[in-house]
Amino acid sequence: MKRTLIAELSKHKGETVEIKGWINVARDQGKMAFFDIRDRSGFVQGVVFGKPEVLEIAKTLKSEFVVAITGVVNERPAKMIKEGVVNGDIELEITAIEILNAADTPPYDLTEDTSGIDEEVRLKHRSLDLRTERMQRNMRVRSEFVRRCRNYLMERDFCEIETPLLTESTPEGSRDFVVPSRHNPGKFYALPQSPQQYKQLLMNAGFERYVQIARAIRDEDLRADRGYEHTQVDVEMSFVERDDVMNMIEGMIIETVESMGHTIKQKPFPRVTYAESMAKYGADKFDMRTEEDKENKVLAYAWVIDFPFFEKTDKGTWTFTHNPFSMPKAEFLEDLMKGENIENILTSQYDLVCNGYEAGGGSIRAHKPEIIKAVYKVMGNTDEETEEKVGHMLEAFRYGTPPHGGIALGVERNVMNLTGEESLREVQAFPMTRKGQTAVMTAPKPLTIDQLLELGLSVRKQDNDKN
Ligand code: ASP
Repeated sequence: MKRTLIAELSKHKGETVEIKGWINVARDQGKMAFFDIRDRSGFVQGVVFGKPEVLEIAKTLKSEFVVAITGVVNERPAKMIKEGVVNGDIELEITAIEILNAADTPPYDLTEDTSGIDEEVRLKHRSLDLRTERMQRNMRVRSEFVRRCRNYLMERDFCEIETPLLTESTPEGSRDFVVPSRHNPGKFYALPQSPQQYKQLLMNAGFERYVQIARAIRDEDLRADRGYEHTQVDVEMSFVERDDVMNMIEGMIIETVESMGHTIKQKPFPRVTYAESMAKYGADKFDMRTEEDKENKVLAYAWVIDFPFFEKTDKGTWTFTHNPFSMPKAEFLEDLMKGENIENILTSQYDLVCNGYEAGGGSIRAHKPEIIKAVYKVMGNTDEETEEKVGHMLEAFRYGTPPHGGIALGVERNVMNLTGEESLREVQAFPMTRKGQTAVMTAPKPLTIDQLLELGLSVRKQDNDKN
C-alpha cells in the first residue's frame, strides 16, 4: 500500500490507509492503546481496540519507535473533536502495526520545547532535538527563507556560483580559521570569512549578477547571535549604484517575508544615517518596534547609511569600519585619493537592520586599482605591502572591471527574526556549544602524531597538556 502523509489523512475519511512515522506518545489503557503518531507533515491520534493480536504489538510500542501503521480513518465523535488542531476531527483505527525500528528512551522529552535543556546534552543528541516540533519548524522556516530569496534573485537573472572554501585569508576584520597543507608543509589555507573577493572577481568575469548561499567562517568570540560559522545570502551586481542594490534587496525581503505570512512595520524601509542612528539609539543597529509590534511579531526593517569609512585602531592607526573594498561616497573620493580629511570620509556602506539585529550589510566597491591602493595607504600600507595583500585584486582590476556593489544577508539573524528565536543556535541544524565544541561530533580535538608528522606540524607541549 502506498504511504499516506499524516497531514493528508482527513482527505481519506472512511478509507484504509498506511502511514509511516514515529510514536510520539504511547498510552496503554488495558484493553485499548492510544498513540500520537508523527511524520514530517504532522500528528494524528491512533487507537487500537478489539484486536488482540494488534494490541499485543501495540503494548510493546514506546516513544520514538518507528512504525508502519495500517488503519481506517474515522471521524471522531462530535464531543471529542479538537478544534483548530490539524487532524483534530479524525483518528486512525489501527488494524496492523509493523515495527520498523525500536528506540531507547530518549535522553530528554521530545514532545516538549527543549530550550530549557542543558545545551551540551541537547547538542550531543542533536538529531533527536531536531525531531521536536519547534526545531522542525525553525529548520523549515530557514529552508523557506533561503528558497524564496534564491528564487527571487534567480527570477531576476542572478547566477548562482560557488566560491572556494580553501582559500587565502580575507581582511573581513575577524581572525581566520586555518587549514594546514599536507603538500606544502608549514603553509596554510584560510577558510573564507566571506566570498567578498571572489564575488568581486566574478563581476570582473562579466557575470553581472551573482548569488551564493555561502558559508562564512570567522574565529570570533561566540555570542547568542554569533557563531564560528554562519550562512549568508551573498549577492554582487555590476553597473549599479547604492540604491539599485538596496532596492533589489528590499524587494526580495518584502516578497520573501510577506509571502511567509509576516507583517512589515514600514515600507519602503526607512533610511537612517549612521550619525542619526548614533544620536537617537546610541548604536548602529536598533529596534523600532513598539510593545504592540513585538506582540504582533512585526518586522521593523531599516537601512543605515553614511558610515564613516575609517576608524582609529588602539595603536592610533586607521582601519576600515566595514569593508576595505568599498567605494567612498562620491564627494569624498578626492579626499581619499589625497589621504586627507580621513576622519570625515563616509563610505557607500549600507546595513540592513531588523528588530535590533544587523540583518545584512554591503557596499558599492572600489573598482579601480588606484582607489583600493589609496584605502590601503590610509591604513598604513606601502604600495608593496598592498600588492602583497591584495595584489590579485589589483591585477584583475587592471583589465576592465565594471562598477559594482553587493551585500550579504545573514541567514541566521534573519531567520531568528522570523521565528522569534534569540540564539542563532536555535536556527542552525548542528551549531557549536558556547564553548566552541561541535554538536554530536568531538571537535576540536588533537591530531594523532602521524597526522601531525604528515602535515609537518608540531604542537607545543603546554598546549598539548591543555587538551
Ligand atoms: N562581505 C561582507 C560581509 O560578509 C558583505 C558585503 O559587503 O557584501 O559582511
